[in-house]
Amino acid sequence: MSEQRSTIETRTPPEMCVRCHYVFDATTGIPGNERATPKEGDLSICVNCGHASVFAADLRKRPLTEKERLDLSREERLILRMAKRFCSIAMGENLATRGSGARH
Ligand SMILES: [Zn+2]
Repeated sequence: MSEQRSTIETRTPPEMCVRCHYVFDATTGIPGNERATPKEGDLSICVNCGHASVFAADLRKRPLTEKERLDLSREERLILRMAKRFCSIAMGENLATRGSGARH
């Protein structure tokens, strides 16, 4: 019998990513922490572009302050770098897929 790792989805006020304009209204924990629910001060990473922001008390997102950016742990920096890289690769593939067939 294997243990199922289920993800908890938390509804958030609908918001648009300031960087890519992706609209989202829910959040989940990162892999390895799927059952986490967000609280004030937690990092939020846009699933579409990897942009980082911070949860406010009402679960809306705000930009990181300069101090918060400097105080990121080594692990948080690594996660953000990986998210940005993964998202830029995924976005690049989407563009390539959309663009294929148009070049003749
Ligand atoms: Zn985004």
